[in-house]
Amino acid sequence: MKHSPNSPILLTSSLHVDEARKAISEMVEELIQEAKVIGDPNDIEVVSLDQAIDRILAEDLLSPIDVPAADNSAMDGFAFDGACLDTSKPEIILRIVGTAYAGKPFEGKIQQGECLKIMTGALMPVGCDTVIPQEFTNAKEDLQIAFQQNQLKRGENRRLRGEDLQQGKPAIATGRLLRPSDLGLAASLGIASLKVKRRLKVAILSSGDELRSLGQALDAGSIYDSNRYSLTGLLNRLNLEIIDCGIVRDEPASLKEAFCAAAKRADVLISSGGVSVGEADFTKQIMQELGDVGFWKIAMRPGRPMAFGILKPVAGKNPARKTLFFGLPGNPVAVMVTFYQFVRAALLQLNGANQTEPPLMQAISEAPIRKKPGRTEFQRAILGRDSNGKPTVKLTGSQGAGILRSMSEANCFVILGHEQGNIAAGDWVDVALFDGLL
Ligand code: AMP
Ligand code: MG
Repeated sequence: MKHSPNSPILLTSSLHVDEARKAISEMVEELIQEAKVIGDPNDIEVVSLDQAIDRILAEDLLSPIDVPAADNSAMDGFAFDGACLDTSKPEIILRIVGTAYAGKPFEGKIQQGECLKIMTGALMPVGCDTVIPQEFTNAKEDLQIAFQQNQLKRGENRRLRGEDLQQGKPAIATGRLLRPSDLGLAASLGIASLKVKRRLKVAILSSGDELRSLGQALDAGSIYDSNRYSLTGLLNRLNLEIIDCGIVRDEPASLKEAFCAAAKRADVLISSGGVSVGEADFTKQIMQELGDVGFWKIAMRPGRPMAFGILKPVAGKNPARKTLFFGLPGNPVAVMVTFYQFVRAALLQLNGANQTEPPLMQAISEAPIRKKPGRTEFQRAILGRDSNGKPTVKLTGSQGAGILRSMSEANCFVILGHEQGNIAAGDWVDVALFDGLL
């Protein structure tokens, strides 16, 4: 193994967020190489377009046709031979000899001094290469139109055959996380189904003696298992197969059994809780038997403790592959932040996506924010606009790692980098929108 999660560099006091991401990405790449997940026919399936949203394209989609298939009009207007635009006369007068509709082409040929009334998408008739939009023309008697020739150049308002896509060229590249526009694009080529990567099987479990399932009574000191639902929601955004392994007691035999059962069925196991200082030793012992897992202290807030590594292939697993393991912290906000920061990209990478990073933008902080250099912070905030239309952000109240309301009321993270100190009101800060991600 190139980069063991237990290697000394990862056990130094605090790990920079970027180092943690790099170590995770290297481990995922190694898993892909070992298991040859990419390109393995077992990992590819064919689905119809209406099932393909948020799946990952497994091979380049080549266009079977030129798009558009023929030259056509980009505007409602009049098609004519643009050679007449070379004359010195400022005004051009043309006689309308017919009409072309989208799906109903004009069969004849247009001569000098003539034009054809043409609708957007209608085929360009023989002898025409230019379209003057309707609104630039004046109607004259005897089915004639007039326009000023300085209003356009020869060839304008015409879409050329193959200008969008050429036959045999990739229309969508391998690794695309398929969005609605990709499905529309495939349909525009007459393609009804796509080769996509199979859905990853992701097991989730919650660990903690204090956790209760919904519907159970809360006895003294117990709380509801909320992480199960926020994690399920996060995973559903990625169109994965979720294996819910429920709640596991803080007890070595139960934990070991639950981890083994999950590893047998899943490509990835995500647990929450049980990795903080007080509990890590206990989990560490089990992990040493089951795989190669590092217990990290990451220089971030929230989400400082996190376990990451691989579980060995378990007997009876088909195909016999290792399982990627994320031991997320228990605090409800920390779970979501560590998922956003580390797990999401790893899942996409493992499944062959060629773009794993969520987009960032910048906004003006409405108020000062206290921040210590030496850790990356993910504050929950609401993105808005000031009176000049510039993007602004405002934090959503108390930012404790257990305060889920700060997350629920927010629509974005304000991400304050490792070296960053205090923020003054009016400073620009990095922002990551939740929409479509969290
Ligand atoms: P731990 O990392 O196990 O020490 O947990 C840290 C905090 O998160 C504790 O207050 C736990 O009660 C809480 N917690 C752990 N797991 C969950 C869960 N599944 N749902 C809600 N809160 C949790
Ligand atoms: Mg616990």
